[in-house]
Amino acid sequence: MSKKPFVTKEMMDEIVKKYPTPFHIYDEKGIRENLEALKAAFSWNKGFKEYFAVKATPNPYLMQLLTEGGCGCDCSSLTELMLSEAIGVVGENIMFSSNETPESEYQYAAKLGGIINLDDITHIEYLEKALGKLPETLSCRYNPGGVFKVSNSIMDNPGEAKYGFTTEQLFEGFRILKAKGVKYFGIHAFLASNTISNEYYPELAKQLFELAVKLKEETGAEIKFINLSGGIGIPYLPDQEGNDIYAIGNGVKEAFEEVLVAAGMGDIAIYTELGRYMMGPYGHLVTTAIHQKHTHKEYIGCDACAVNLMRPAMYGSYHHITVLGKEEQETTHQYDVVGSLCENNDKFAIDRMLPEIEVGDYLVIHDTGAHGYSMGYNYNGKLKSAELLLCENGEVKLIRRAETPKDYFATFDCLPIHSKIKF
Ligand SMILES: *Cc1c(COP(=O)(O)O)cnc(C)c1O
Repeated sequence: MSKKPFVTKEMMDEIVKKYPTPFHIYDEKGIRENLEALKAAFSWNKGFKEYFAVKATPNPYLMQLLTEGGCGCDCSSLTELMLSEAIGVVGENIMFSSNETPESEYQYAAKLGGIINLDDITHIEYLEKALGKLPETLSCRYNPGGVFKVSNSIMDNPGEAKYGFTTEQLFEGFRILKAKGVKYFGIHAFLASNTISNEYYPELAKQLFELAVKLKEETGAEIKFINLSGGIGIPYLPDQEGNDIYAIGNGVKEAFEEVLVAAGMGDIAIYTELGRYMMGPYGHLVTTAIHQKHTHKEYIGCDACAVNLMRPAMYGSYHHITVLGKEEQETTHQYDVVGSLCENNDKFAIDRMLPEIEVGDYLVIHDTGAHGYSMGYNYNGKLKSAELLLCENGEVKLIRRAETPKDYFATFDCLPIHSKIKF
């Protein structure tokens, strides 16, 4: 398998006339088709809903593409709640899955009528105090500890994760909540990240379904939904095979029938909070090679940097790179593809085999549609790029302008120096 960009050199020559690199560009067609496949894969569940994890790609225009298709919004902060409200997504179309939550954010989420997903048993009292009265519906986040395994291979390490209630706390929490008048319950768990396996969701689902049956038996709680959260991954590597969403949906269905239907709990809705899977492959970071440096290694210097895409610097993540117009050329040259930050981890690729690159070439950095732009920051005074949408009809739309120095200086408006700066 090779990775093909959804833009070509010819398209790019046109786009850059209006929008200079670097920028993130998203593929409307890919986003829509992927959402339809997800919905089809879970259509067996009457209450199925994907709450898009806003933190992955917090752009209201992109969020709207998904919410028009029936998604809700999974928010975790004040501004994510505000984004959701701004596009008219309120009430039970909001899932508020936060942790270490300030009182004011609980109040705002409750004001919007969102479903609150508690991260810890101590938050029961905290929330009650913040709101005066607990909502009718509440969800609790579960963390069984240990490691998360499928077919004897370890996928992740929930025992080291800061999130969620322990098993004991979950039973106790449900009892307390019930005694305090909460009527409807949800269970949430996020136990492995970026999984490239059709087994993650079905295995997680089975564990949560069995837990739900026990929780109902022992506490009498009425469980309305089970939230499988995020964690379905995407193939960042060109030779990786992606997940089969239909196999995943079917696997969850089998566990649902075996455990929940058998226990007379077949009305439970399945929710997901996918971020990466919804958007990751449908975004590119496009950058221009502006320098070549031949020292102890061969370097290609780009006009983008880790401010535009932090994952390689932060986690050493692989992001595939295509040199536009040279898709068919042999990868004969070994490069470090680097940004301009004064940090030596600002490298999009290390020892990567690519076709020979010339200054002026456009590089497509793949799979930046989730946790790409959104992790951006302003180190070295670098400004965040624009975001563009390649529409289904071929048109290119600006869906967020690039930051300007004026944006960078905006928060100094409390100082007299502000009036002395010319923009
Ligand atoms: C990050 C996050 C998600 C989305 O995770 P992906 O790996 O992007 O699918 C969903 N829910 C919660 C609570 C998260 O923190």
